Amino acid sequence: MTTFAPRASTSVTVGIPGTMRALVKHHAGPELRLDAARPVPTPGPRDVLIRVTHAGICGTDRHIWEWDAWAASRIPVGIVTGHEFVGKIVALGSAVSRYQLGQRVSAEGHISPGTGYNARTGAAHIADDMVILGVDRDGCFAEYVCVPEENVWPVHETIPDHIAAVLDPLGNAVHTVMEANVSAKTVLVTGVGIIGLMAVTVAKAAGASRIFVTDVDPRRLALARRLGAVEAYDVRQGSDWIKHVRSATHNGVDCLIEMSGHPGAISDGFSALRPGGTAALLGIPSKPFAFDLTNHVIFKGAKVLGINGRKMFETWYQMEALLLSGRLQLDEIITHQLPIADFAKGFGLMQSGEGIKIVLKV
Ligand code: ZN
Repeated sequence: MTTFAPRASTSVTVGIPGTMRALVKHHAGPELRLDAARPVPTPGPRDVLIRVTHAGICGTDRHIWEWDAWAASRIPVGIVTGHEFVGKIVALGSAVSRYQLGQRVSAEGHISPGTGYNARTGAAHIADDMVILGVDRDGCFAEYVCVPEENVWPVHETIPDHIAAVLDPLGNAVHTVMEANVSAKTVLVTGVGIIGLMAVTVAKAAGASRIFVTDVDPRRLALARRLGAVEAYDVRQGSDWIKHVRSATHNGVDCLIEMSGHPGAISDGFSALRPGGTAALLGIPSKPFAFDLTNHVIFKGAKVLGINGRKMFETWYQMEALLLSGRLQLDEIITHQLPIADFAKGFGLMQSGEGIKIVLKV
């Protein structure tokens, strides 16, 4: 167990300006504003201050940008957005013991004081008392971000910045695929957006025997094939693909990785799952919907896993191991790197579908 020996001095903050540029949710409506003089956060005793170099735009950020019903109900106006990043430590709280100035780090964006039942029993990713960076407290679309020492993840020197900036969503994909236990098994990924595509390359690296995917975007289906899918079905052409999957497997895939959150895709995914198969669900439906629990889960004997966030920090260690194995193909998924001043273009590329993962250079 780590013991914290508080340093005699206060926080090290030499050379840090008082204000910074930051992408702020400036009103209860669409878009974000780049503020030029947001105060730089002050680290508490057990926090580190990080100079952000690269930050990924997430689907969550798009919800916040578009100000949909979820964002309106959850996001405090005035917050600095963003939760996926890499940067360098520039200040240490007085009690921080494990990190050094200049160290290149990312961070787990789910922050828990660690006092609740789940946090104390190895399930901090679903802790009751959790707050999320860039959702509930100021995030990383800024020159500086402050996070607790407990959440810091040191980035291996061989992992490039544009990949280190997207460890958060990659961790979602790794968590889902690892929970589904895909090794030597057939896998169906429903929905190949950013995390679905990441799940394809992770499943391939983790030893899935055959990967099938569905989507409605031919470009993403083609990319999924390049990443290792043997069959990629455009569901706009009907549901015959379910028969093909069943006949190519033992009456259905062993593992369903659900990444779309779309009611039709979820039902079809369960139709293509074999009796006794495992479904790992990460995609989030926008509202409750009718679902055939009797046939899709109960009679089928399906094992259903809800996936949220990343296990702290088992998923992070698995992700690093997979990255260092050299078997993950992420370069085609990260389609654009833009200066933060071009943030509006970044969100536009995401909305049009022209871009997949967009990384902002801060
Ligand atoms: Zn994210």
